[in-house]
Amino acid sequence: MSEHDYDLFVIGGGSGGVRAGRLVASMGHKVGIAEEYRYGGTCVIRGCVPKKLMVYASHFKESFEDAKGFGWNVGERDFNWSTLIANKDSEISRLEGMYRKGLSNAEADIFDTRAVLEGKNHVRLINDNQVVSAKRILIAVGGTPWRLDELPGSDLCITSDEVFHLTQQPRSIVIFGGGYVAVEFACIFAGLGTKTTLIYRGDKILRGFDVDLRETLRDEMAKKGIQIVLETIPEHVSQNRQGDGDLKIALSNGEKIYADQAMLAVGRKPLTDQLGLELAGVELKPSGHIIVDEYSRTSAENIWAVGDVSDRVPLTPVAIHESMCFIETEFKNNPTIPDHDLVASAVFSQPEIGTIGLGEDEAVEKYDKLDVFLAKFRPMKHALSGRDEKMLMKIIVCGESDTVLGVHVLGEGAGEMSQLLAIALKSGAKKSDFDRTMAVHPTASEELVTMYEPSYRIKGGKRIG
Ligand code: NDP
Repeated sequence: MSEHDYDLFVIGGGSGGVRAGRLVASMGHKVGIAEEYRYGGTCVIRGCVPKKLMVYASHFKESFEDAKGFGWNVGERDFNWSTLIANKDSEISRLEGMYRKGLSNAEADIFDTRAVLEGKNHVRLINDNQVVSAKRILIAVGGTPWRLDELPGSDLCITSDEVFHLTQQPRSIVIFGGGYVAVEFACIFAGLGTKTTLIYRGDKILRGFDVDLRETLRDEMAKKGIQIVLETIPEHVSQNRQGDGDLKIALSNGEKIYADQAMLAVGRKPLTDQLGLELAGVELKPSGHIIVDEYSRTSAENIWAVGDVSDRVPLTPVAIHESMCFIETEFKNNPTIPDHDLVASAVFSQPEIGTIGLGEDEAVEKYDKLDVFLAKFRPMKHALSGRDEKMLMKIIVCGESDTVLGVHVLGEGAGEMSQLLAIALKSGAKKSDFDRTMAVHPTASEELVTMYEPSYRIKGGKRIG
């Protein structure tokens, strides 16, 4: 008989927590898991999955328009927000059910409650007013949108938590931020016909991405009618009683904007407040993230943390990978360090971004000689659709070793491409490997294996032709 109620107790039922709970329970260990909101976590319930469904919905507007050039006569179009939200909700409920089913089939104990630590081996289940003990504890509580409390009127704004549950489609929306969430929702709302304005404090959206992606996406979004206001922050949000929008937003550039909704997309913070971490000896960074070692172990020996609550790469597949490595290390006697190198990612903007590896600016900081291959072209589809939209592909290569350091794609299918490019780059692909790969014709991605001559070279940070 074990001295603890559980071999593993997981706090947080998102992607990382559920994966660990299900697999460890299926190995025959006694597992408990607690989630205070809904099983599935941010990704499934109010993040990646519902967002992607809304992205699909928003694509139809352009598809209907593009159809004309191919001979289709698409009649009256009418978009019904309530139908989209209801259908999205039922799909999310189905997925949530599958997460629960996976856990119960594995015979994990599922608790629908907030859980807090009461020491190194004890967890209080708030709703049940019960304390359980566990040999090991995994913290996978994720994060929450930052609500920019210092902005007067921020309580009038929505975040990505509320955006999926609006009862009405806003006629107009102002989105603050220039990262993943801001850009993706600006494109969703514009595609669905909402008048959309993006307000970003920097001079180029999507900081951290390759510069050509940033500039080309900005241009393409502007062509779709999204107003992008740069180097500007909101100063005040208030109710508006006139007819041109429910909110009045005063900006640092002196302008005022009226809109039905204002959305904060200014980043996320870890959900570590009042989790009892200090009682268990779990240390935090000043940002509130849990400090972990390379195996995801916290400063308390039997407590581990995976996913967004630790300050690594805040993406769903990374959280799942960290959980799998935790299981290898702690339950399979196979110490495994999560691999955070060369993580591909997609931004479901319109056009979409798929990216892996170093952008040009980062590559310049790390390498003396670079060869850059850049193609910007009109995709074949738009020859008949008539749409003025560019596709971009960029390959950054080490001028000395010929290793491909980064590949960046903007355009239809870019996210799918980045998954396959990731395999090549993880395998250490050289540019010569790209060159000897036969093109698949006619595709857009064939451009990636047919750019034989560099568009320009860089030495010591300077373009040399
Ligand atoms: P990001 O970190 O991507 O972007 C936050 C944005 O808010 C940045 O543009 C930032 O500006 C701006 N910002 C921060 N503080 C302020 C401030 N005080 N005033 C004005 N602007 C501010 O966060 P997101 O919330 O968009 O996304 C969170 C994470 O979720 C991402 O990092 C990503 O890992 C993940 N995600 C992934 C998706 C995907 O894989 N497709 C989709 C959505 C989210 P600056 O750049 O100048 O700091």
